[in-house]
Amino acid sequence: MTGRTRIGLFGGTFDPPHVGHLVTAVNVRHALNLDQVVLMVANDPWQKSGGREVTPALDRLAMVEAAVAGVDGLVAGRDEIDRGGPSFTADTLVHLAERHPGVEWYTIIGDDAAASLDSWERVEQVVDLSYLVVVDRPGHQAALSTRYEWIHVESPRLEVSSTDLRARFLDGRPLDYLVTEPVRRVIIERGLYGVGR
Ligand code: ATP
Ligand code: MG
Repeated sequence: MTGRTRIGLFGGTFDPPHVGHLVTAVNVRHALNLDQVVLMVANDPWQKSGGREVTPALDRLAMVEAAVAGVDGLVAGRDEIDRGGPSFTADTLVHLAERHPGVEWYTIIGDDAAASLDSWERVEQVVDLSYLVVVDRPGHQAALSTRYEWIHVESPRLEVSSTDLRARFLDGRPLDYLVTEPVRRVIIERGLYGVGR
């Protein structure tokens, strides 16, 4: 069977990347028969950067690279970091589509993030250039704006968030099984999240 290359774009701050992200990426890749899923590291997560200190982009990239190393079909994306400035998925898709003509793009969004798609910059461009994929908890189809056409994919939803992980680092609770070992090593090597202080 020949066909167009199908690539999923899974954007995030990944501060840090955790097993919830990885389980999602692997399951969406399988369900939609994608050649690749790119975990695209936001340079400046503009919807978040006002509130707290975000870990430097290159440290977050190093963690994501460690997370996907050796995982079939998952890759770390650095395009938003190389481009600099605020990270809008619309811009990322424009750049990727220019550089890789003939690829079919799938924008992968968790159910929480999908609910606020309307707040995205130039969402109409995202819809033009890619299929929208929402990741549903098993048995629960997310109720979303009918203004957009969604591809629903079910994936086990692990109740883990980067916010919770950062708090765990700070007060010394165990991180075992919540981040992968290679990610934990990068955190220790680089002294992120106050580790080693
Ligand atoms: P934070 O707590 O800082 O918001 P996060 O854990 O939500 O971090 P993000 O980098 O904000 O991670 O999320 C990137 C993408 O991953 C979003 O589409 C989000 O919906 C999705 N996501 C976040 N946590 C999970 C999880 N546990 N399982 C599946 N998808 C998730
Ligand atoms: Mg989040």
